[in-house]
Amino acid sequence: MPHLAVNGIHAKYGSLDVLHGISFDVDRGEVVSLVGPSGSGKSTVLRTLVGLTPVTGGGIEVDGTSIDYRSSRSVRAARDRMAIVFQQYNLFQNMSVLGNVTLAPRRVKGRKRQEVEAEAMDLLDLVGMAHKAHAYPDELSGGQQQRVAIARALALRPEILLLDEVTSALDPELVNEVLDAVRRLAAEGMTMLLVSHEMAFVREVSSKVVFMDQGKVIEAAPPAKIFDAPDSERARDFFGKVL
Ligand code: ADP
Ligand code: MG
Repeated sequence: MPHLAVNGIHAKYGSLDVLHGISFDVDRGEVVSLVGPSGSGKSTVLRTLVGLTPVTGGGIEVDGTSIDYRSSRSVRAARDRMAIVFQQYNLFQNMSVLGNVTLAPRRVKGRKRQEVEAEAMDLLDLVGMAHKAHAYPDELSGGQQQRVAIARALALRPEILLLDEVTSALDPELVNEVLDAVRRLAAEGMTMLLVSHEMAFVREVSSKVVFMDQGKVIEAAPPAKIFDAPDSERARDFFGKVL
């Protein structure tokens, strides 16, 4: 059974249909990447998974349990299991790094501060930011802030991490430190669904690449296949331009 099954989902903004039946699976511990031209619906897929954009058809299953996006309880359950990190990291500027990472878990009833902080330090260590635990966001580079944002997303122990172009707002020299943090998570067995324009990284880290265009999956295959010998003309055209 896949960890995450996306089964023919549809989504719209107002009257504009943007997802026309998207399907793919993500197995436990697998990294799957969504790639495709700007506006193809990659971010919308991630947003539907965490209930930020309503699903208007099809469905999503986590470990075989379907999520009912009309039920706020079911959406909350989905949000407990999946966390999303955006291009814009939006840390709370008036809180230290440790404060940012412990904020959500501290609100969970009955958790001891010491325990929450120890876990947060482990997560900061994982993203190479433990040494800045007491710094404030404005003292950090963009790459460092994004790594803290990833640690913050992990603080509620999601099973599946969704990363939407987490390096796109960064200066080129800061991209790799964030990708290293993602590599480390992959090595730890974190199930991840990522949207990225870093094609070398996508190729290296993904077991499957889902190529989307105009709200549809055109082709899904292991990276070597889809990068080097795609079946579809559109994928050939796209990868021919971006590689
Ligand atoms: P991608 O992430 O692949 O660039 P998006 O999921 O952001 O694509 O967008 C898919 C389509 O939905 C695009 O046509 C985009 O213009 C449209 N869209 C995205 N967000 C909104 C929104 N908040 N309101 C209206 N249309 C939107
Ligand atoms: Mg996007």
